Amino acid sequence: MTLIHEEQLKNFIDGKWEEPSSGKATAVINPATSETLVNVPLSAASDVEKATSAAKKAQKSWALVPAPQRAEVLYRVGSIMKERKERLSQLLTMENGKVIEEARGEVQEGIDMAFYMAGEGRRLFGQTTPSELKDKFAMSVRAPVGVVGIITPWNFPIAIATWKSFPAIVAGNAVVWKPATETPIMAYELAKIFEEAGLPKGVINVVFGSGSTVGEAMIEQDDIRVISFTGSNEVGRGIAAKCGQRLKKVSLEMGGKNGVIVMDDADLSLAVEGILWSAYGTSGQRCTACSRVMVHEKVKDELEERLQREIAKLSIGNGLDESIKVGPIINRAGLEKVKSYISVGKEEGAKLLTGGYIMENGDHKKGNYFAPTLFTDVKPDMRIAQEEIFGPVVSLIPVKSFEEAVEINNGVEFGLSSSIFTQNVNQVFAAQRDLDTGIVYVNAGTTGAEIHLPFGGTKGTGNGHRDSGVVALDVFTEWKAVYVDFSGKLQRAQIDVE
Ligand code: NDP
Repeated sequence: MTLIHEEQLKNFIDGKWEEPSSGKATAVINPATSETLVNVPLSAASDVEKATSAAKKAQKSWALVPAPQRAEVLYRVGSIMKERKERLSQLLTMENGKVIEEARGEVQEGIDMAFYMAGEGRRLFGQTTPSELKDKFAMSVRAPVGVVGIITPWNFPIAIATWKSFPAIVAGNAVVWKPATETPIMAYELAKIFEEAGLPKGVINVVFGSGSTVGEAMIEQDDIRVISFTGSNEVGRGIAAKCGQRLKKVSLEMGGKNGVIVMDDADLSLAVEGILWSAYGTSGQRCTACSRVMVHEKVKDELEERLQREIAKLSIGNGLDESIKVGPIINRAGLEKVKSYISVGKEEGAKLLTGGYIMENGDHKKGNYFAPTLFTDVKPDMRIAQEEIFGPVVSLIPVKSFEEAVEINNGVEFGLSSSIFTQNVNQVFAAQRDLDTGIVYVNAGTTGAEIHLPFGGTKGTGNGHRDSGVVALDVFTEWKAVYVDFSGKLQRAQIDVE
C-alpha cells in the first residue's frame, strides 16, 4: 500500500513546509511489522523560536476575524477529514498499531470535534450581568490567550490533537504543536488539511522533534502563554514545574489506573464484553484502559472462567486486517516494560491465569505483540494494581462488598475513569457519587468518552483542567470583565452605591 508519498516529513511553519534547521531526522516504524514508514525531523530549538514568532504575528489578525468566520475553517477541516476518513484511519493503524476499527473511531472523534468546536464560533458565550450602578452595563467575554503550545502523545495521535487545537483556533489563538515522534504522520496529514481548508498561514505551526529538545524549547518561549499537554505523569510533572516558574498556564492530562467493579448482581455477559473492550482494545495503551477489576467474591470464579474463554478467542496481529481484534505495542521499550510487570506480579504473589508473554511465533515476531494477560487474587497494594502498565494486563481483585470495591478503586494515585456493573439502582447512584474519577461509567467499560463532555481526571491524572467539551475553552481563553458606563459622569463602584 503506498499511502505515504514522502520520504521525509517536514515542519509546517508560517504556512510553509520546511526542513528542520538541525538537518536531523529519525525513522517512524510500523509497530505491527517493524518496517520504516517515513522519516521525521528532529528539529532544534531555533525551529520552535521561528514557529513561535510566526504564530505570534498570525494571532494578532486571526483574533480579529469574527469567530463565526474562524469557525468556517473548522467546518471545512471536518469535511475534508470526513472525505479522507479511510485513508487517515489506515495511516493511523500503520503508525500507531491500533486495529483499523478503532482507528476509524479515533478519526471520527476528530471529525466530531471539528463540527462541535465550529459550532462554538457562534457561541463562545460570556455572561451579562446587572451592574450595581445606574446607567452602567456589565459583561464578561472570553478573550484568546495568544499563542498556545500543544504537546501530544502517540496513543491517540489525531483525536487528542483535535481536542486541543480546534478549541484553541476557534477561540482566536495561534498554535505551536509538537506531536509525539512515534506518530508524526497524523500531525502531517492534519496540517495539510488545515492548509487546504484555508487556515491563514502561521495560525497552526507543527514542529516535529523530541520532547527533550522541541518540547522544552516550547516551555522556554515566553510568547507561548499556555502549554496543553497529554502524556505520562513523569513528563507532565516536569512540565508543570517549569511552567510554574514562568507563570505559564499549563493543562495536564496524564495517566490512569482505571477500575471496573463487577457486583454479584451484574449481567456477567455484559461485564465480560465491557472488560475485554476496555482492557485489551488498543492493546491496553489507552489512558482510560481498564487494568483492575474489583469483582464480588460470589461471582469471581465465573468471571475468571468467562474472561479466560473470551481472551482465548481474541485475534492478535496487524490491525490493517479487519479480523484482528488486538494490535501491537507501540515499540520494543513498551513491550519490555509490559513484560517486566509480569515478573513483578508473580513475585508479589498474584496468580497468572493467562498470557504474560511476548508473542514471537510466525508473523508475530515481526512486530511488538504481547499476549492479553489476566492475573487473579491480586491484592490492592501490589504494584500491578497500583502502577500504570500501559499494556494488555488486567488484575482481578476479589471484594466482599460495594463499599470495599469503591475504596479499592479510589486507592490509587490516579483518577481518570471507573465503571460499575450492577442492576441495583441505589448502588448506581452511590457509585457515580463516590467513585473519585473524572469519568464514571455504569454498565459499560472504562472507555467510550464522547467529545461534547469534559475529558480528564482527578488526583494524579491531571491538574484540574479538562480536554474536550465546552470547558476545553477555559484552557485557551482568558475571562475579561467589561464595564460600560453610559451615565455621562464618573461613577465609582462600591463608593457611589446608594
Ligand atoms: P510521554 O509523556 O513520554 O510523551 C508525551 C509527549 O510529551 C510526547 O510528544 C513527548 O515527545 C513529549 N515530551 C517528552 N518529554 C518531554 C519534555 N521533557 N518536555 C516536553 N515534552 C516532552 O507520554 P507517551 O507518549 O508515552 O504517552 C503515554 C502516556 O500518556 C500514558 O501515561 C497515558 O496514560 C498518557 N495519556 C493520557 C491521556 C489523558 O487524557 N489522561 C490520554 C492519552 C495518553 P517525544 O515522545 O516525541 O519525545
